[in-house]
Amino acid sequence: MGKKQSKGKCFLCNSIVAKAGMPKHLQSCLQKNVISEKILDDNRKPQKEKKFFHILVEGYNYPEYWMHLKISDDARLKDLDDFLRGIWLECCGHLSAFKIQGTSYSSSPITEYDEKSMSRKLGDILGQGIKFSHEYDFGTTTQLALKVVSEREAIIIGKTIHLLARNEPPSITCNNCKNIATHVCVQCNYSEKGWLCDKCSHEHDCGEDMLLPVVNSPRVGMCGYAG
Ligand SMILES: [Zn+2]
Ligand SMILES: [Zn+2]
Ligand SMILES: [Zn+2]
Ligand SMILES: [Zn+2]
Repeated sequence: MGKKQSKGKCFLCNSIVAKAGMPKHLQSCLQKNVISEKILDDNRKPQKEKKFFHILVEGYNYPEYWMHLKISDDARLKDLDDFLRGIWLECCGHLSAFKIQGTSYSSSPITEYDEKSMSRKLGDILGQGIKFSHEYDFGTTTQLALKVVSEREAIIIGKTIHLLARNEPPSITCNNCKNIATHVCVQCNYSEKGWLCDKCSHEHDCGEDMLLPVVNSPRVGMCGYAG
């Protein structure tokens, strides 16, 4: 059986769209959205348009996990790091870092290594088409690939970071039978025998202490990540 095409949901219009088609879909969905925000705002005091970035984030080794974000250009790297931790990564407060055009921006920078802090504003570092990376936990690392899909102007209301779209949970089958996996064994994860359904997880040799729940994140089954 071939691998199913990854799909995700656009939170602007609630449609389900294939991963490959989502950037284009969002460009037009954002356009409509930006216009409606403008109309909404005509009844209020004039507000200055702010710049925002449309960013695609995906698991570097697990591209079936992906999301699209809208981030105002005065947000800081720390805001993006907090957001990624909150939705996909945080297990025990590990260190993290962005790598952007050869420079490291770390959650706890070491100046001898020429690392910068995450207090920089996105608008000062990013631009259309720039690709960069994020690493969480330098032991059991989860690496993410990020890309600025577009740069736009809009009147931004509310949150500085907005989730535009996210992958639907991939359906992963149990390595023992054909049921849907609900748990992953931390010890067996690396040998690709770690995915288990409810029934098989009770009979698994490593014991229930080694099991983590299957969650919709590229950090599924790593360290103590439980979603
Ligand atoms: Zn849409
Ligand atoms: Zn951890
Ligand atoms: Zn099973
Ligand atoms: Zn095991």
